[in-house]
Amino acid sequence: MQQSLAELEAIIRNRICHVCTARTVDGECGLEEPSSCALFRLFPQVAEAVQSVESDDINQYLQAIRRNVCSVCIDQARDGSCETRQRVECALDAYLLLVVDAIEEVTGKTFDKKSIGPPVGGSTVSLGPQIRL
Ligand code: SF4
Ligand code: SF4
Repeated sequence: MQQSLAELEAIIRNRICHVCTARTVDGECGLEEPSSCALFRLFPQVAEAVQSVESDDINQYLQAIRRNVCSVCIDQARDGSCETRQRVECALDAYLLLVVDAIEEVTGKTFDKKSIGPPVGGSTVSLGPQIRL
């Protein structure tokens, strides 16, 4: 079943914000500007990126994120680097595996996560992000 953009975002918000270190004890986003979170600021591009890929190779999704999302993100430098990513302050990048898990649930696909690596474009993908406020 094709999920709507709103449904996909709701699944990912439920998964990511609940474990994000930027979340406050009140359950709110603790970023000074919550709307600055790249994962949701660019969510239409994130959704488009993952929906544009038909592969069981997770690296294809990582590359699509870099190509379709990072390329239009104001935080990416001309050379493709990203200080926010390097500081592990991008929720999209830091929680990418969980985002993929949500996509897996939505699409019913099973990704071969062992195929991850080497990191695409200097990804900081991990399950333990350290987003500073
Ligand atoms: S930084 Fe992003 S992922 Fe983390 S709580 Fe805020 S909106 Fe959610
Ligand atoms: S990794 Fe950097 S360029 Fe890519 S979405 Fe996150 S903040 Fe933007």
